[in-house]
Amino acid sequence: ATPMSVMVGVGKAAEHGVLIRNAQALQSAAGITTLIIDKTGTVTEGAPKLTSIIALQGSEEHLLTLAASLETLSEHPLAEAIVDAAKKAQLKLLPVKQFNSVTGRGVTGKIGVETLLMGNLAFMQENGIDSQQVSDQITKLTANAHTPVYIAANDQLIGFISVADPIRHDSAAAIKRLQKAGIKVIMLTGDNQQTAAAVAQQVGVDEFIAGVMPADKASKVKLLQQQGGIIAMAGDGINDAPALAQADVGFAIGNGTDIAIESADMVLIRNSLHSVADAIELSKATLKNIH
Ligand code: ADP
Ligand code: MG
Repeated sequence: ATPMSVMVGVGKAAEHGVLIRNAQALQSAAGITTLIIDKTGTVTEGAPKLTSIIALQGSEEHLLTLAASLETLSEHPLAEAIVDAAKKAQLKLLPVKQFNSVTGRGVTGKIGVETLLMGNLAFMQENGIDSQQVSDQITKLTANAHTPVYIAANDQLIGFISVADPIRHDSAAAIKRLQKAGIKVIMLTGDNQQTAAAVAQQVGVDEFIAGVMPADKASKVKLLQQQGGIIAMAGDGINDAPALAQADVGFAIGNGTDIAIESADMVLIRNSLHSVADAIELSKATLKNIH
């Protein structure tokens, strides 16, 4: 494309809420064959809310107190949901010792004489904690796209908390629009298989991959690139930054983290996947203008 038509394209994109950080990407966008999207904060709003507390021993208030005390020290969106719920209930949080955050798994720490472990099923299994007794309840929750957070004290499951992150109102329509343009849409998430499947089904992606560790998102992009085509990625989190940089075209959600925005080629200021489809249409129009 000529510098002039690219400049026009950049201006038009801005009108559609797409900030172009790399003009070369405006040209590559026309040829995108696969779009990889992050779940939390991209397909969903990224602001999960607590939906239930199940205590196997002691009160629900006590369970939430323990959970929120630990999660105060974490920056994960799930942690925020739990801490917010405790604040709303005006619970008095307890001091935590030996706090530790385990990427893609959860958090640990000591409160009084109790050694606590909180996080996903993989984290429980890796630590030999049996959660069989709640598996039926969990199956129902995850089928509804809720995410469970298991809580164990001194190697015994003491309950779980579930959180749900609303799907953005226009995610399904935007994904359909992208698919109509011939693009394969794949959702990638660190969340569990069942919750991911429920969200994937609701928004109609072609494929999804669950339980992806943050460090593995970029290698998934690379793997798809080796199989051919132009691979784009849309994400919002710190976790997504390496994958956004690796992708042929990286789209960052406008209210995402600074590092995601800095790693992306385009920024979606409307926080909508429709803007990805807009950017692709504009890219095609920009290229047509010169040929
Ligand atoms: P994602 O951003 O897609 O959830 P992460 O790799 O950040 O991916 O997390 C993967 C999973 O690890 C989460 O879905 C959750 O089950 C668990 N997890 C991570 N951090 C925490 C935390 N602070 N508290 C509870 N669970 C957590
Ligand atoms: Mg995210």
